[in-house]
Amino acid sequence: MTLDAIVVGGGIGGLSTAFALTRIGLSVRVLEQAPAFGEVGAGIQLAPNCTRILDDYGLLDEAKALGVVPTAMVMRDAVDATELTRLDLVGLERRYGFPYLVIHRSDLHSLFLRACERVGVDLVTDAHVTAYEKTAGGARVTLADGTTQEAPVVIAADGLHSVARALLVDDEPVSSAYVAYRGTVPVAETAGRPVDLSEVVVYVGPGCHFVHYGLRGGELLNQVAVFESPKARAGEDDWGTPDELDAAFDGTCAAVRDGIPHMWRDKWWRMYDRDPILTWVHGRIALLGDAAHPPLQYMAQGAIMAIEDGWVLSEHVAGLRGARGEVDWDAALAAYEAVRPEHCRRVVSTARAWGELWHLDGLAREQRNALLRGRDVHDYSYTDWVYGPTALVPEDEPPMFPVVPLSGVEVGSAR
Ligand SMILES: Cc1cc2nc3c(=O)[nH]c(=O)nc-3n(C[C@H](O)[C@H](O)[C@H](O)COP(=O)(O)OP(=O)(O)OC[C@H]3O[C@@H](n4cnc5c(N)ncnc54)[C@H](O)[C@@H]3O)c2cc1C
Repeated sequence: MTLDAIVVGGGIGGLSTAFALTRIGLSVRVLEQAPAFGEVGAGIQLAPNCTRILDDYGLLDEAKALGVVPTAMVMRDAVDATELTRLDLVGLERRYGFPYLVIHRSDLHSLFLRACERVGVDLVTDAHVTAYEKTAGGARVTLADGTTQEAPVVIAADGLHSVARALLVDDEPVSSAYVAYRGTVPVAETAGRPVDLSEVVVYVGPGCHFVHYGLRGGELLNQVAVFESPKARAGEDDWGTPDELDAAFDGTCAAVRDGIPHMWRDKWWRMYDRDPILTWVHGRIALLGDAAHPPLQYMAQGAIMAIEDGWVLSEHVAGLRGARGEVDWDAALAAYEAVRPEHCRRVVSTARAWGELWHLDGLAREQRNALLRGRDVHDYSYTDWVYGPTALVPEDEPPMFPVVPLSGVEVGSAR
């Protein structure tokens, strides 16, 4: 088999990219280290900048059938439960042309897996890549068993702990000292709680927040509880444990406290990102997804950015194919690198600032609440740069949520 591309990593980024390249006629192999393709976790939010791409791929109807299309996103104060602001998602769909969708992570992953199988992606498991190198005609990867594989291009979608990233930068994941607990609850078990499945709700509180929304046509309630770990701040190794979860939400409103016993307690996700980098391409080796731009999840754009990366790359590849179908990979990778890193840098930086805003306490919390309550709920000027059509060429600097000094914390700037 003559390969056009190797994709390392079969997460949402790797599979969606392999699908995107294969559907335009390329021969693509995915190398996944795990013994089987799969995703751990619960819900994921897909904004219009992602559902637009799913529609282009012919996958949106299937995704909608698997998920829930909520009508509003509501932010509440986690201490007193009052509403701070909301996004009308019906109006959002009218503005951007595509819905805001919430879906189980494993449903999204298996949607892409089935799509890859349909178009004939070569899907390989138990393939742990240990090294990457440039070759005269492309790139080579070495696997843990010592064998090598080559292709004209290698896309490294190998996640937060990417091996390929070390070719470009000597850095480490940055700990936020925050940890996420997840859980799904059958809706039948939420009786007595103020749960409206037509809404994505986030309760923001001092050093913590709590998110819930419906999944699987409204059968399940997805919950995410995130808090700052005192043990992480004290430099202890054993941080983010369930006793810290309980303590972190002690002072929150009943609606939040009632959700905490339903979190999975045997697994938690310590939250890391990395400082943005603007160089993602090393010869014919390109970073994609969390390997290139792992964010804190406050913008709910991590998987979306990975899906956008693959779509942008494949659009450029399609536009740069010669008469016999040959790809000008150097031009395609240059076009990819000209547009994606700057957008993702803005998202990663804004997610950090957004996290600061969510977790404020004292006077700063009151100032934040006043600012959010004053926001016009039909004002989309600060979401256009994220939810608008994914750019294929560099964009102008977008407007950002105003930089407001809140007791020394500057929020909203992407710079
Ligand atoms: C609590 C939480 C909530 C989130 N919510 C959202 C949300 O609502 N919306 C959203 O868009 N994003 C969200 N995200 C972010 C999103 O989950 C990630 O950004 C996204 O899954 C990254 O996908 P990826 O394919 O780039 O990387 P990964 O999912 O990490 O996949 C990498 C794959 O590569 C494989 N791999 C790694 N190393 C190797 C190797 N050496 N050889 C072979 N294979 C390898 C791994 O096994 C894995 O399958 C959230 C994250 C968290 C923690």
